[in-house]
Amino acid sequence: MKRREFLKQAVAGAAGVAGAAAATGCGSSSSGGDNFGAEGPRSATTGAPAVHTQPKVSWRLTSSFPRGLDTIFGGAEVLAERVAAMSNGAFTIQTHPAGEIVPGLQVLDAVQQGTVEVGQTASYYYTGKNPALAFDTCVPFGLTARQQTAWLEEGGGLELLRDLFADFNIINFPGGNTGAQMGGWFKKEINSAHDLKGLKIRIPGLGGEVMNRLGATVQVLAGGDIYPALERGVIDATEWVGPYDDEKLGFYKVAKYYYYPGWWEPGPSLSFYVNRDDWAQLPRDYQAIFTSAAKDAAVVMQARYDARNPAALSRLLGQGVQLKKFSDDIMDAAQKATFEILEEQAEADPRYRAVYEPWKKARSEAFRWWGTAELAYSQFAYRGA
Ligand code: CA
Repeated sequence: MKRREFLKQAVAGAAGVAGAAAATGCGSSSSGGDNFGAEGPRSATTGAPAVHTQPKVSWRLTSSFPRGLDTIFGGAEVLAERVAAMSNGAFTIQTHPAGEIVPGLQVLDAVQQGTVEVGQTASYYYTGKNPALAFDTCVPFGLTARQQTAWLEEGGGLELLRDLFADFNIINFPGGNTGAQMGGWFKKEINSAHDLKGLKIRIPGLGGEVMNRLGATVQVLAGGDIYPALERGVIDATEWVGPYDDEKLGFYKVAKYYYYPGWWEPGPSLSFYVNRDDWAQLPRDYQAIFTSAAKDAAVVMQARYDARNPAALSRLLGQGVQLKKFSDDIMDAAQKATFEILEEQAEADPRYRAVYEPWKKARSEAFRWWGTAELAYSQFAYRGA
């Protein structure tokens, strides 16, 4: 609603009556329709008369996430709002949550095949297509949010990953980060690596593979299926994101131990995907607008997490949640298993190694630097917090 109002104002301001008509079309589309109909072109000028020379471009975005996650899905909405604002409403992106156009885990395919022009997702969902895509999001014991952003934007990481994404006719843009995640919700205490044996835990991706090597029984459940499984004891534990998102799913009602850190996701980066054919057809100034808008969305997402997690943690503690830190024994075993897996994958695939080796070097250098001023300050300042 807010975006529609915004678009109406932006377009009406720029193009008068004709623009308002275009905005109405956009509004009806966001409630489930399509500007062009099912058989129409995916990306085209709308034909609406305009008082300026900017071509009309209307794209659709499909997300891996539900609308209710105002942190992550909100990033897609910020992208759309910024693109519309910077183009005076001429370039619009309709945002669709998971399931409206395609299921949440089919975003890569939908962008690759041109079903939509844009996707919002996490690249580690697609490691079945290419394991190295995980580095676009995060790997266990990898980079924190700021380190990941530095590596992608200024450390050569994005170029390496765009080379991989070219195989899928996709150009990828960093689109936000959750920051370090929590380890998740456990019905009983886990004191040593031995306690992981036989533990039934919901955890996807490489983190799940590591847990599996440590003897846990790993299950992958979609967001809406986790709570009942935890409540009924089908699983003993689950990870999700962090206090703000986790609170919404209510896990604290059925599992009181809240472990940290989520060593498998120290700084997962979300991504926007754009179909390369659509990108090539986009006017150069719109390409610049999209690129800037994606960076805006990334900043806003991280800020929302950083602004909302602290209060959410306080509320959870008020509900009797018990914070527990993973023991060094667990962390050591998990890190060892992680690097065994990363090295095995590098051994098996030269293109994986071509990303892994520079990433490993960047990680090593980053950790030396972050282990000085940031670490010393954090260790001193957060004592007793
Ligand atoms: Ca997670």
